[in-house]
Amino acid sequence: MVHRIIKFERRITREEADTSRILVRRELIRHFAGMRGELRVLLRDAVYSARLVSDLCSCGGLGREHSHHFLLLCGAGGLRAGERLTVQVEAGGC
Ligand SMILES: [Zn+2]
Repeated sequence: MVHRIIKFERRITREEADTSRILVRRELIRHFAGMRGELRVLLRDAVYSARLVSDLCSCGGLGREHSHHFLLLCGAGGLRAGERLTVQVEAGGC
């Protein structure tokens, strides 16, 4: 199995901080194919366990339902609204 590392920048919203979830933009989600289960997320030199979760959403209007994908951090993760983070994800929990 290839050891994949996914890295992206994200400015944390209030909702993400409150729910310990980091939105994974749609164009990034294909990089997560086959990476279900426990993930390791590196934030500010600390490692967190996380898993990928999806919410059905209708922000595009009726008939345009789709999913939003998030990294759900186990434990608080200490996300702060407005904070800009480099998020590094790899397979395997901690
Ligand atoms: Zn939406």
